[in-house]
Amino acid sequence: MTDRETTRDLLVRYLTQRSELGQSEWFLEESTATEFLESLRTPSEKTTQTAAGPKAKREPAARRPLEVAEVSGGTAGSDSFDALRSEVLSCNLCRLSEGRNTVVFGEGDPEADLLVVGEAPGYEEDRTGRPFVGPAGQLLDKMIGAVGFLRAEVFICNVLKCRPPKNRDPVADEVASCKPYLHKQVEFIRPKAICAFGRFAAQTLLTTETSLGRLRGQTHQFMGIPVVVTYHPAALLRNAQWKRPAWDDLKLLRRVYDEAGGRATGGEHA
Ligand code: URA
Repeated sequence: MTDRETTRDLLVRYLTQRSELGQSEWFLEESTATEFLESLRTPSEKTTQTAAGPKAKREPAARRPLEVAEVSGGTAGSDSFDALRSEVLSCNLCRLSEGRNTVVFGEGDPEADLLVVGEAPGYEEDRTGRPFVGPAGQLLDKMIGAVGFLRAEVFICNVLKCRPPKNRDPVADEVASCKPYLHKQVEFIRPKAICAFGRFAAQTLLTTETSLGRLRGQTHQFMGIPVVVTYHPAALLRNAQWKRPAWDDLKLLRRVYDEAGGRATGGEHA
């Protein structure tokens, strides 16, 4: 065995031990603890790991009644998720319908136990009709992935379904028109937990003007469903110093999700 291999083996043993003792955060910029350990393992160790650890199967979750939503503005009278999608895709309730290329309804598992809510579509989202697919979306995938959620097993949407011109902040009447659609999405999906990414999603869901800094770090409620608030991935791309608190929020989200009876998820997490 070379010195390098010995050092690597010792490092793997040490970090595996720390991980088993419950340490889940090593700040290594782009990698989670799991990804970093994986990168240190040899190909044969990787094969053994996968064979030894089959993913948990998703079981149907028990659903509980939701609290009645209080909404004003546009109505969403659709009686199925598909009908709601059609209704939203042809919406002309506000001025944003004039400048959009596509309506971004949201995507993922319509029976997801985790609902991810962002602000509004940006350039790439407006072009493709899919939420969170630009640079912020790639970081969002990593953020939820770091606590074990695969993109396909959550539902991702925004407060606004159409892109505001030049990505300007949403204005009150646009939110009033669109918010009933979000309420209806929550009613159909009935998630066990919601994660609000960014100030705007948090303040809209929680009907408050309290700052993101004060909202994060605790559990709120929307229609009787626990809500965790964290930084928007676009903000994290500009402010690396928020990555550490965002990681704390994501761990809180995972805890809240598990405690609420959310199904086992397919992503490995630290
Ligand atoms: N930012 C958001 O809030 N939502 C998206 O879908 C993309 C960027």
